[in-house]
Amino acid sequence: MNKLSQLPSVDRLLAEPQLAEFVLIHGRTIVTDAVRAELAAVRAAAKDGGAAPVPASATLTMSIAMRIEQATRPKLRRVFNLTGTVLHTNLGRAPLPEEAVEALVMAARSSCALEYDIDTGGRGDRDDIVNELVCELTGAEAATVVNNNAAAVFVLLNTLAQRKEVIVSRGELIEIGGAFRIPDIMQRAGAKLVEVGTTNRTHARDFVEALSTRSAMLMKVHTSNYAVQGFTGSVPEIDLAAIAHGHGVPFVVDLGSGTLTNLEQWGLPHEPTPREAIAAGADLVSFSGDKLLGGPQAGILAGRKDLIAKIKKNPLKRCLRVGKLTLAALEAVLRLYRDPERLAARLTTLRLLTRSETDIRSQATRLLPALQAALAGWPVTVAIESLASQIGSGSLPVERLPSAGLVVRPRGKRAGILHTLEQRLRSLPIPVIGHIADDALRLDLRCLTAAEEQEFAAQLANFGAPK
Ligand SMILES: *Cc1c(COP(=O)(O)O)cnc(C)c1O
Repeated sequence: MNKLSQLPSVDRLLAEPQLAEFVLIHGRTIVTDAVRAELAAVRAAAKDGGAAPVPASATLTMSIAMRIEQATRPKLRRVFNLTGTVLHTNLGRAPLPEEAVEALVMAARSSCALEYDIDTGGRGDRDDIVNELVCELTGAEAATVVNNNAAAVFVLLNTLAQRKEVIVSRGELIEIGGAFRIPDIMQRAGAKLVEVGTTNRTHARDFVEALSTRSAMLMKVHTSNYAVQGFTGSVPEIDLAAIAHGHGVPFVVDLGSGTLTNLEQWGLPHEPTPREAIAAGADLVSFSGDKLLGGPQAGILAGRKDLIAKIKKNPLKRCLRVGKLTLAALEAVLRLYRDPERLAARLTTLRLLTRSETDIRSQATRLLPALQAALAGWPVTVAIESLASQIGSGSLPVERLPSAGLVVRPRGKRAGILHTLEQRLRSLPIPVIGHIADDALRLDLRCLTAAEEQEFAAQLANFGAPK
């Protein structure tokens, strides 16, 4: 047992070959801080515990190495999303297709013509980067892009309805995760909410009766993250548009997700598109860039030219504008939509959503031995089971996609073991995020790409027994 007085000095530790190497990689400050912190921790423990042994030099070095690893590891880490939710808000929603990644890296690395007209040498407008593409894909006259769809709704309300009334059905006063509630946004934007109808049914006359000289617009909010079933009724968009236009106010639709293609062609459930809303008479639509669209976080506003022009003049649009990285990625993703035949192969989100259960099941079969071997010392069973993936991010909330995955169940009455296992999977070099429910830990393989499969299996190799 060493005495405290035998603790090596900071300089001696810094001269240890492993730590000297860390100095070359991470710089002297980070390594010195870790050495000091470890020595302080050892001294504190010795003081508290009285007879606590002072660790040997090799142990010290190892603890310091761990501190350095902790201190230098990026906060934003890559994970394997095996939750079964494809567009997982907490895991960053849509993974970008390669085309978008390349465009984003180019924009990140270099100067680019963000607000610069290369032909004339004059000033450009950043919205022009995607304006034509959005118009082509939605049938809109003009478009603008802001930070996310929440921002899009906020800026449209603030521009077109400040100190005026916005008429919305009671069945559409939604809350999206992360403190986005239509009534709150409306209030913050300076608009007055006029609720009409009931939770389950709203009629055309409800809207007609609510219209007055104070009305700024009639608004429809896509109830993307829940479904009302049973005795329900809402007014079709085409009728809402006619009512609004009859009164001389715009009809605005917050589509939430919005997708630029008809998902039914791939056997997926129908999600309303901006093109449909605009064709039905919507003057303005708003939708997210990183939900079903499969692009970067963004909010897209598309519709009548005069309304878009008004929004672009609002100083809030300047506060909520997107940067070059977003626009680079968004442009690349929108371009993929111009080639519908290859869209499902190239757009990552769509590729994940359209993976067949058979394909996912064969992946599960390939990976089962690796997980079984990793968990050999654990009191659990591992099996391949059929699962039901969700689209996520409030898109198509009741629909489930037939999927498959590896399911771990405790042997005997040891439900706590699943939490230990779940935590161990999270502490792997590339954290594996699964889902525990009904006494089972499910690893839905829908979102594990072919390229990731080897990495996933490889890091299971030295998994070890439960502690
Ligand atoms: C998701 C959603 C929003 C918010 O969009 P973000 O891009 O997450 O800001 C707003 N309205 C509806 C209907 C939504 O589904």
